[in-house]
Amino acid sequence: MTRDPRYDILFEPVKIGPVTAKNRFFQVPHCTGMGFLRPRTLAAMRGVKAEGGWGVICTEYNSIHPSSDDLPGVHATLWDDSDIRANRLMTDKVHEHGALAGAELWYGGARSPNLYSRLPAMDVASMPNLAGHPFQTRSMDKTDIRNLRRWHRKAAIRARDAGFDVVYVYATHGYLLANFLDPAINQRSDEYGGTLENRVRLVRELIEETKDAVGDRCAVAVRFKADETIGADGAPEHGERRDMFEMLSGLPDLWDINIADYSLEMGMSRFVKEGALEPYMSWVKSVTDLPVVTVGRFTSPDTMVSQIKRGITDFIGAARPSIADPFIPKKIEEGRPEDIRECIGCNICYSGDSLGVPIRCTQNPTMGEEWRKGWHPEKVADKGSDARVLIVGAGPSGLEAARAAGARGYDVMLAEATRDLGGRVTREATLPGMSEYIRVRDYREGQLQKLSNVEVFRESRLTADDVFAVEADHVAIATGATWRRDRFDGKAYVPVANGAAQVFTPDDIMAGNMPDGPCVVFDGDNYYMGSLMAEVLADAGRQVTYVTAEDSVSSWAGNTSERWRIRTQMMEKGIGIVTAHTLTAFDGAQATLQCAYTGRVHSVPAKGAVLATQRAQNDDLYHQILATVGGEMAKLPFTLTRIGDCEAPSIVAAAVYAGHKYAAELDTVQDVDQPLKFDRMDVGAVAPMPIRSPEVANQPMADAAYRQTLLDYYEEEIAGVAYFDALADICTDPAHKAKMSLLARVEQHTVAIVAPLIAQYGLAPRDQQTLMSEGIVDARNGPQDWEGMIATMRRTFPGYIADFERLERLAPSQDVAILKRMTRHEVVAIAFLELEAKGDPDADAPLHRFLSEPEEAAHAV
Ligand code: ADP
Ligand code: SF4
Repeated sequence: MTRDPRYDILFEPVKIGPVTAKNRFFQVPHCTGMGFLRPRTLAAMRGVKAEGGWGVICTEYNSIHPSSDDLPGVHATLWDDSDIRANRLMTDKVHEHGALAGAELWYGGARSPNLYSRLPAMDVASMPNLAGHPFQTRSMDKTDIRNLRRWHRKAAIRARDAGFDVVYVYATHGYLLANFLDPAINQRSDEYGGTLENRVRLVRELIEETKDAVGDRCAVAVRFKADETIGADGAPEHGERRDMFEMLSGLPDLWDINIADYSLEMGMSRFVKEGALEPYMSWVKSVTDLPVVTVGRFTSPDTMVSQIKRGITDFIGAARPSIADPFIPKKIEEGRPEDIRECIGCNICYSGDSLGVPIRCTQNPTMGEEWRKGWHPEKVADKGSDARVLIVGAGPSGLEAARAAGARGYDVMLAEATRDLGGRVTREATLPGMSEYIRVRDYREGQLQKLSNVEVFRESRLTADDVFAVEADHVAIATGATWRRDRFDGKAYVPVANGAAQVFTPDDIMAGNMPDGPCVVFDGDNYYMGSLMAEVLADAGRQVTYVTAEDSVSSWAGNTSERWRIRTQMMEKGIGIVTAHTLTAFDGAQATLQCAYTGRVHSVPAKGAVLATQRAQNDDLYHQILATVGGEMAKLPFTLTRIGDCEAPSIVAAAVYAGHKYAAELDTVQDVDQPLKFDRMDVGAVAPMPIRSPEVANQPMADAAYRQTLLDYYEEEIAGVAYFDALADICTDPAHKAKMSLLARVEQHTVAIVAPLIAQYGLAPRDQQTLMSEGIVDARNGPQDWEGMIATMRRTFPGYIADFERLERLAPSQDVAILKRMTRHEVVAIAFLELEAKGDPDADAPLHRFLSEPEEAAHAV
């Protein structure tokens, strides 16, 4: 398919100072919970976005100096030269696909707690930490300002050397530079405070100095807000911003514009819809000829085109849409916008930064798993067998399992008890503001319609007998969970209702049943459901008191930056709020509330009580099936797995993830002892500095990226020996066994060839046993028949040649001969595979030749 000409404008290249973006799709800086802690995970994730067609891909906030440290919020760093290598992992991945890489230089000021570095935070004045920590900043003197400018320049140069094409001056979001600009905060009496010109001085200096440092190679972008203070949604209060902007407008190469109210800019779909920044952007493009980028949770190509044609922005900036679907640009380009997996605006992605863990996404279960599990948002491995798969329940988990298993090529049957697919999201999307959650269902339902190997059976509530009758090879039970009518008291589930009083649950309310008269809603879940129940009841005219044992409303929703808007909304709807109390009893006339601190109780009149507490797994079907074989899973004629809420009730993102995991791992062998690749600094593998032999002492030192890649490939060769040995064990034909053993010898020979380089650089491979078990698991996960083995290798091996050749290019000249020999072992393996596929009786000749080649001849390849 080709792209719709209406969208051509999105694919126009745009010049940004000395560099050119290949199109208008711009992944603005966004946090990932990976940053400097998990550089490989991060690089792989950004690389997938580049592959998906984004023209510019930026880092998260990238600290320029240890006095700006946001842990446990994980940020990137450009603190010293080791960060050049860490950031380079990302820029290399981004450049592989022709995209530009951008680094957002960040200095937190009064927003950075410096809990890791333990250095005092500095800002325009001494003020309280703006993230709520009990610290104050040091007021910056002129020496501090000079230091800051030097740190910024040095970080910009490191960014350039790490391969970035765009370097940001970050002057918004309440960080240091924003505070210098702010007339209410900046009360200094020196040349950096007072008049507008003085307050703008530091930002101006940093733009000019960054341009001076890197401007011949990198574009300089400025992140800047279009309004001055937070007002009503969609009603900007511009204040001095336009004047400020006019003073700076021609200095950088790009303007990245956002707004004062982060809860609107990063708004939850419950409260904020697509394109919400537009009213704030009205004047920006009229004041500058430079390219402008802004965001708006854009997922519709028509909205994107409209924004550009109407002169609101030049680039379609995106964080969340690029997380939910890293392939938006490719899908538009290939004429299939209906395949876009639209962001639902739930902000689970953002919670990773709040919690200090890697990003997750409700819509895209592969997000954050690109390196660790090798998952890809658009590609899944081919099926591992001709097995038939039955999935019971079409909620988020069952739908994703069916979609991904179907994409792998399995014959899939998806049975759903009700007429509508979607399970909980179909119900929850009817609640106030929640309509976009239906995208979880709609995307998957749309994809299932394209898969002829997936059959969907609606209104089919299956029993255990039905499941056996289907005669599937794999059965997944995705039957979800039901809201409970009791609450967890920290040790056990205890009832609340006494007498004949009836308590309602969210399932009742969503089914249209609700109490009459004044109600108490008890929130023991503390995410969004309790607040939604209160809102639905208030909208239906009930007098509502919302009760939680936590100190705040919807406390967990603080992680998604949603809780403040929730509380405002509740207050505006007249909902009474009681925090730090538990609903302990309800008799149909009175609700008894107990204080979490003093234990004192008091009563409030209530005719109805709604409990949004915990959920019970709907796992009867699972247990009934198991009961037929006395609980001995192995005696079933199929594999049986619980997934999603039926296994362990959780958020929608977890259910989608469980469905994806189930499908991705079907017919594979999982090593339960080592289920994950672990992205962390391995003190064993990173030698401080190699001890150099006298022969190489005068030659240039090999770069760390090269040494790390060399070590990775060396480890892969060790794993490769075990891989081929394991395949030899699997083969039953003696001739096939011999060929696999021969391939194992080729790997072993290659290990021996490369070993001197590993020793010379003092590199420490992981232990032999670990590497060998990786090889064995790979062999078991692949096809178990000869044709399948050969076909898999023919498909995957050519990619290794490109990897090895890239390593040769990274290498110092004295290493190249050895590396060419490593590349050659792959060449001969491919030659063998091609001859074998043709049935040549001498197929193994290239392998024998390789093993007997004299070193010098081999070096001359
Ligand atoms: P999850 O979040 O884990 O996907 P949901 O509760 O959203 O779980 O969805 C579970 C789905 O399973 C619901 O749509 C429900 O109607 C369906 N379901 C429950 N029991 C059965 C059954 N025995 N046969 C078929 N579908 C079922
Ligand atoms: Fe969008 Fe939610 Fe995914 Fe974030 S987690 S990108 S808000 S769908």
